[in-house]
Amino acid sequence: MGQTEGGSGRGIGRRSLIVGGVAAAGLGTAGALAWDELSRLWWRMPGVEKPRVEGAVDYGGARWVAASSANWRRADRPDDYAIDMVIIHVTQGSFDSAVQVFQDPAHGAASHYVVREDGHITQMIRELDVAFHAGNREYNERSVGIEHAGFVDRPRDFTDAMYAASARLTAGICRRYDIPVDREHIIGHVEVPGTDHTDPGPHWDWERYMRLVRRARTAPTAPTSATPT
Ligand SMILES: [Zn+2]
Repeated sequence: MGQTEGGSGRGIGRRSLIVGGVAAAGLGTAGALAWDELSRLWWRMPGVEKPRVEGAVDYGGARWVAASSANWRRADRPDDYAIDMVIIHVTQGSFDSAVQVFQDPAHGAASHYVVREDGHITQMIRELDVAFHAGNREYNERSVGIEHAGFVDRPRDFTDAMYAASARLTAGICRRYDIPVDREHIIGHVEVPGTDHTDPGPHWDWERYMRLVRRARTAPTAPTSATPT
């Protein structure tokens, strides 16, 4: 399960940029220069350049359900932050309850994806944005977070269909951002520095999971943008 990362974004907001720019424009040469710099800054703001299509998913096998905007931060990855990590979570609850709390602005946390026991995948935050799932700002900025429905102490929750679907999802992420398929770059929440979370727990079969990810990553015909079914 995720947890809030604290803090509130990257300092200067879009609104203050515009207001500052207009104010600077009235200050003569110095102001014009500042305005020019601000104009260029504006176009470098996270999320400005990439198109955002309502309901669009990064992984073709996923269905879109938007998380509350309080549970993630707008960004422009991988241009502003490189993505070099996938973080594996277990929800400590049902799929439905995870999808529900990630839509709750009071929750303060959410992951990019939630995988159900039957292999169904819901995407809730775009990969270009920073999800609050790792409880560590730097790790949030560099990673994609995947939640798996179930409980860490109930191994039957980790079904064949869940492993297979999640492995295809992770393989696609590794392909998109050229992330090595190894345990340095595909880690559990428990391995994030400073966390007190234990997921995915001792019953998560890492050997099996990594084998499936490697197989999906190297499969020449592995779909990256299949039509949702
Ligand atoms: Zn977690």
